[in-house]
Amino acid sequence: MAFCKKCGAEIDDQAVICPKCGVSQVTQPATVDNGGFLWGMLGCCIPLVGLILFLVWKDTKPKTSKAAGIGALVGVICGIAFYVLMFIIGFSSAVYY
Ligand SMILES: [Zn+2]
Repeated sequence: MAFCKKCGAEIDDQAVICPKCGVSQVTQPATVDNGGFLWGMLGCCIPLVGLILFLVWKDTKPKTSKAAGIGALVGVICGIAFYVLMFIIGFSSAVYY
């Protein structure tokens, strides 16, 4: 025998709903929404993936989606900054040599 999570009544092990109070006995896996730093890193490395994750998770995992979105943004900015730097270095080399 198992016991109802809400009212504590004895219910069948296989029971999905408590016959006494009607509360569902199925455990929903808790959605992990911890702001995922790793997702931010991933978004930074692959901005497109970060953007997709941001769009997919923005309703279900706001914090994680934000982390991925910020990561993607940082990745894009770093990428642009890198190319601008390369352009400036290339340009100045062309001028001085
Ligand atoms: Zn119950």
